[in-house]
Amino acid sequence: MLSINPIPAFSDNYIWHLTRGGEHWVVDPGDAAPVIETLAGESLDGILITHHHLDHTGGIAALRARYQCPVLGPGSIDGVTQPLQSGDRLEILGLPLEVMDVPGHTLDHLALLLREPTDQGEKLHLFCGDTLFAAGCGRLFEGTPAQMHASLSKLGSLPPETRVYCAHEYTLANLRFAAAAEPGNVAVTNRLAEVQALRADDKITLPSTIGAELATNPFMRCHIPAVARRAAGQAGMDSADEVEVFARLRQWKDNF
Ligand SMILES: [Zn+2]
Repeated sequence: MLSINPIPAFSDNYIWHLTRGGEHWVVDPGDAAPVIETLAGESLDGILITHHHLDHTGGIAALRARYQCPVLGPGSIDGVTQPLQSGDRLEILGLPLEVMDVPGHTLDHLALLLREPTDQGEKLHLFCGDTLFAAGCGRLFEGTPAQMHASLSKLGSLPPETRVYCAHEYTLANLRFAAAAEPGNVAVTNRLAEVQALRADDKITLPSTIGAELATNPFMRCHIPAVARRAAGQAGMDSADEVEVFARLRQWKDNF
């Protein structure tokens, strides 16, 4: 039985902790201390990394020194012992893991899809770092709008039940922007109310699902005319193709 739990780190990061059959893995340990505390004497069997930012990689050295575990991620990152590339298929925790490249936030950014067989078929678990957030997406630090739009489209083509484990608690602010970008979207209004209630109790809003993102995430709804009109209106444009809509939305959100 696979269990996936968040380890809060810094002000709004989540380090995802995966456990199955007594094995422990973590995704994007920006800090070693909360991981060591969570493991409570158990050993760490491996580390997955989505991209090079320090709040996702800062704990690698200390965890490696303590547990001597493998580190799987983009090959350019210090401390990665097994470089991953798009299309790679491997096994962790006795389950198949697939690697997708999703450039945009950074150029080295990977998304990791874990497949868990169940009686009904399988559950899919997506670890997407800072590419896809609940109701939002990462800033474009290195990539182009076209790259990020393509990356989000790739993730959007996964089955709608796919669980989405983002690396930050940004959902509330993202939904406030989503409500501005698409005021007539009832799914956004409803999700905003749910998330406001969760955050008022200091509860986590993740995981999301691909289905929920397709319904409420403006950055995955650039093809919706109402979103395109709002994005174009912000930029004083008449019409725009999907990548232009995405670029205008991202720029608007950067200053929202
Ligand atoms: Zn990042």
